[in-house]
Amino acid sequence: MASTSYLSTRGAAGAAPQSFSQILLGGLTPDCGLYLPAQYPWVDAAELDGWRGLAYHELAACILAKFCGDIPQADVEALTAKTYTAAVYCNVRPGQNAADITPLQWLGEEGGARLGLLCLSNGPTLAFKDMAMQLLGNLFEYALTKAGQELNILGATSGDTGSAAEYAMRGKRGIKVFMLSPHKKMSPFQTAQMFSLQDPNIFNLAVQGVFDDCQDIVKAASNDLAFKAARKIGTVNSINWARVVAQIVYYFKGYLAATTDSTQKVSFTVPSGNFGNVCAGHIARMMGLPIHKLVVATNENDVLDEFFRTGVYRVRSAEQTRQTSSPSMDISKASNFERFVFDLLGRDGARTAALFRQVEQEGGFDISSMPEFEHIANYGFVSGRSTHADRVATIRNLNKRYGVVVDPHTADGLKVAREHLDAGVPMLALETALAAKFSETIVEALGREPERPAAYRDIEALPQCFEVVPADASTVKEYIADHT
Ligand SMILES: *Cc1c(COP(=O)(O)O)cnc(C)c1O
Repeated sequence: MASTSYLSTRGAAGAAPQSFSQILLGGLTPDCGLYLPAQYPWVDAAELDGWRGLAYHELAACILAKFCGDIPQADVEALTAKTYTAAVYCNVRPGQNAADITPLQWLGEEGGARLGLLCLSNGPTLAFKDMAMQLLGNLFEYALTKAGQELNILGATSGDTGSAAEYAMRGKRGIKVFMLSPHKKMSPFQTAQMFSLQDPNIFNLAVQGVFDDCQDIVKAASNDLAFKAARKIGTVNSINWARVVAQIVYYFKGYLAATTDSTQKVSFTVPSGNFGNVCAGHIARMMGLPIHKLVVATNENDVLDEFFRTGVYRVRSAEQTRQTSSPSMDISKASNFERFVFDLLGRDGARTAALFRQVEQEGGFDISSMPEFEHIANYGFVSGRSTHADRVATIRNLNKRYGVVVDPHTADGLKVAREHLDAGVPMLALETALAAKFSETIVEALGREPERPAAYRDIEALPQCFEVVPADASTVKEYIADHT
C-alpha cells in the first residue's frame, strides 16, 4: 500500500491531509509544523531481500513510490533514472564504481566490527546534499511543467546548500534560482563552484555583508506576502519533505551492500547539523530496515548530542554558535528535529506543538523526566561529539591506518562511530563531503593538499558570473522583480 497522505507534526485538528505533490513545493505546514506521512510504509524481509541487486535508481523508485502515490509509477521511475546516473555521481575514488552511486568502502575491522564508509559525496558539489537536491531539481521541473507553473527559488548560503541547489536547478524549465551569499566570505573553491555557473536561470547575488545579512534579506522578502505571491518565491531548505525521502534511499542501499540477508543488522553514524540526514535514517528504521544503532555525531555545536545524552534540548544563540572546521554542522537549532520528537511522543501533535512553542519562547525544553525519554533507546539513537583536535587526529589516523583521506565532517562521524562499535555489527559511517572542499584542515592534518577530482582542478580560474548588491532587502527585491 502506498502511503500518500501527509499530516503536520503539530497536528492541527481537522487539517486536511495533503498529497505528496501538494507538499512538494511547500515548506512549513500551515500550523508551523513539519510534514510527515500519516503512516510509515512497511518493508518486510522478503521485499527487502527482493531489492538486492537492484541498481540505485531502481531501488530509489521502489522506495519513492511508497511516498508519492499521486505520481504515476512510470514517472517516478523516469525521474530516478534521470537523476541517479554514473555521469552525475562521477567523483568516486580510484577503484570505485560510479554506477554504484553511493559506493561502500570497507576500511577494516575495529573492535570486532567491520567499519565502512558509505560514500555519498560523489555528485557535482562533492557533498551529500547532491543526493537529495538533484532529485528535487527533477521533481520540481516535473511538477511545475505538469501544473504549467513557475517557481523562483530564493535562498541564502554560506557554501554547501546554495551550490547544491544551483547545480540541481541549473537549466531546469520554469525555475530560477536567486542565491545570496556573503561577498568575499566563502572559500575560493566554494565561490568558484557557484559563480562559475553560466546558466541563464541561475543568479548569484554577492551581498556586501555577512551570512546573517543574507538570511535576513531572505526572511524579509518571504515575509512580504504580496511580493512572495507576485514573484512566485519558494525555498529548498532542509525541512523540505522530498529531500528527506530522497535520503532514505541510501540507508537501504548501504544496508543491502553491507549484508547478505535481512536477518543481519547494521549501524550507521551520521555527521549531523539540522538533523535532516539522520532523520531519513530514523524513517528507514521505522520502515523496518534492520538498523541496530543510529549514531548522531556533532561537532562543538552539540545541541543534539546534549539532547540524546540528557533529554534537554537547548537551542543556542548566534553568539553561542561556534565557527568550526566542520562548518556545515555549525547550527544553533536542528530544523528537522521536530519530526523525530513527534514520533517519540507517540505522534501526539498537541504535545509536540507545545514543546516547540516552548523552543520559540524559552529556547528549549526538557523531557528527561518523561517516560518517553527512557524509550529513546528503542529508536536506536545514541550520540557523541567531536572537536577540532578530534577531527585532525581522526583524519591523520585514518590516513595512516587505511590510506584514505576524509573530510572534516566525515571525520567527526568516524570519531564518534568508534565510540559505538558492537562486535559483529557492521558500522557504516556516512561520508558527507569530499576532502577536496576543505583543504585547510587537510593541510593541517596531513601536511599536504587533498586530491581534487579532475573536473575541479582549475575551477578557480573559470570566468565567474555574479552581481554585488548591498545588504538591503528592497534592492534585492527590485533585482528579483527585474529578472522574473
Ligand atoms: C549539511 C551537511 C551536514 C549536516 O547534515 P544535516 O542533514 O543538516 O544534519 C553534514 N556534513 C556536511 C558536509 C553537510 O553539507
